[in-house]
Amino acid sequence: MNEINKPKKPLIFYYGIVLIFLMLFNLMILPAITERAIKEVDYGTFMTMSEEGDIGSVQIQSNQILFTDKEEKAIYKTGVINDPNLVERLHRSGAKFTSEISRESSPILSLLFSWILPIAIFYLLGSMLSKKMMDKAGGANSMMFGMGKSNARVYVKSSEGIHFSDVAGEDEAKDNLTEIVDYLHDPDKYKDIGASMPKGILLVGPPGTGKTMLAKAVAGEANVPFFSMSGSEFVEMFVGMGASKVRDLFKQAKEKAPCIVFIDEIDAIGKKRDGNIGGNDEREQTLNQLLTEMDGFEGNNGVIILAATNRPESLDPALTRPGRFDRRVPVELPDLKGREEILRVHAKKIKISGDIDFTQIARMASGASGAELANIVNEAALKAVREGRAYATQTDLEESIEVVIAGYQKKNAILTEKEKRTVAYHEIGHALVAAKQTNSAPVQKITIIPRTSGALGYTMQVEQDNHYLMTKTELENQIATLTGGRAAEEIVFSEISTGALNDIERATKLARSMVTRYGMSRDFDMVAMENVQNKYLGGDASLDCSEETQTKIDSEVVEIVKRQHEKAASILMENREKLDELAKYLYDKETITGEEFMTILNS
Ligand code: ADP
Ligand code: ZN
Repeated sequence: MNEINKPKKPLIFYYGIVLIFLMLFNLMILPAITERAIKEVDYGTFMTMSEEGDIGSVQIQSNQILFTDKEEKAIYKTGVINDPNLVERLHRSGAKFTSEISRESSPILSLLFSWILPIAIFYLLGSMLSKKMMDKAGGANSMMFGMGKSNARVYVKSSEGIHFSDVAGEDEAKDNLTEIVDYLHDPDKYKDIGASMPKGILLVGPPGTGKTMLAKAVAGEANVPFFSMSGSEFVEMFVGMGASKVRDLFKQAKEKAPCIVFIDEIDAIGKKRDGNIGGNDEREQTLNQLLTEMDGFEGNNGVIILAATNRPESLDPALTRPGRFDRRVPVELPDLKGREEILRVHAKKIKISGDIDFTQIARMASGASGAELANIVNEAALKAVREGRAYATQTDLEESIEVVIAGYQKKNAILTEKEKRTVAYHEIGHALVAAKQTNSAPVQKITIIPRTSGALGYTMQVEQDNHYLMTKTELENQIATLTGGRAAEEIVFSEISTGALNDIERATKLARSMVTRYGMSRDFDMVAMENVQNKYLGGDASLDCSEETQTKIDSEVVEIVKRQHEKAASILMENREKLDELAKYLYDKETITGEEFMTILNS
């Protein structure tokens, strides 16, 4: 309920201010102006002045008498007294006198002028403003509050001319959208056969993978107008504005058809309606309006709606049913080849040296999104400028990967000898356990220079080949690798540190997934105990089982991690000499590459 009142406040607030202003005006300023030069005198003075003829013009009002002296320089005022001789005396004095009852002080007229008229004017002004707001959506907001919050640019018509070639990788998504482009080019081909295009297409994927870019590229390729709006803008300000914004958006779009309408973050309005008390009525109204609009136009009228979200599971089923957003295009994180292409696209925008190995950089930036890759290239260019070079080099790019992923090097964070040794052993512990299990280089590079992200070291994992299945053994090996850092500390220092925090979290999560989701437990066979939410935003899971089962799950998880921890410890003890040798190398050099690591290990 609060949500409803809140957006209303500005209008009430606005009228309130006007009212207060009017009251102040009437009570203080108006009288002050009119009575500026009027001197109040007693009736006796008035009588004396009129008898002596020292009086200019006189105005007799219902409750007071205004008069001037002979030269008409000063104005005086006095009360009215029942004075039968007044008229005769004034006549004798030769003053000009009038009675002004009706004009000056009719209470009805003064009420009209000082209250009703201004209020009527402000009311008219106000309703004109709000009408304009309905028409132009955000436009008037910035007028009213005028404080930087300019969301006047509501429906942007794209002339940026982004094309599919600007979006690197994402080939499946592009294939899928090519059909839409083709339809916009030549709708008759589709109409002839009776096929109708999907009205809505949902672009689904993690943040920064190029969903907005793809939508713009569809418009660019088809050379049609592009209307864009973010879901959160719909539910922003005033009650009822969301729905009317939707109505208006579609009205404009229909006029400009064929065209693309792009709604970013559609989950902001399209969340499941759960009917809870205190639910967001405004959002539901907006969603209902959107559904109505989508039903209201025929599939073939040339308005194609693209929407982006990274939480598809939270969308209202009414929105995803056939006839609305019935097509779903996954836009996933780029693979190795995709990353390389994205790097190349963005590298065209900066000056780089001729001998850049993009494959190598793409390999190092494993797991990065398109937006992060764009950022990496830009950081490299910035670094080149900082160091006074005219172009960016391979090293710039490599260093900026670490910057984007782990933060800047903290040049002046001093680790104590002991801490530095601990970090070196910890990192080598991970790498050694990994290498012994798979007999291959586990890392690209390890550095033990503290980062602004808080990490004391940074390990760049080797890119795994595109890998769609994980076996139970591989999962167990991963857990063993994660425990390797702590195991090394235990063996070498007989003391443990807080450095394993992140490892512990990840190992637990893996072990828990094995038990609750992958059916790799001792007791539960192929029964799922957890539901995963927000696949694209970290993937939080919620338990879905009885309390006794939870207890069993917990003990199985502990057992799995414990077994792998013991395995890691025994691997390290068997290779104690190599552990010492590698850790010393890392301690001295602060950086070790995968190749150096393997050379030392196999020597
Ligand atoms: P999303 O909408 O998925 O969050 P955007 O489309 O806004 O992501 O992408 C943000 C930025 O990341 C883009 O402006 C672009 O510079 C870069 N980017 C992301 N994906 C790609 C890609 N596939 N090719 C080229 N650049 C990309
Ligand atoms: Zn660790």
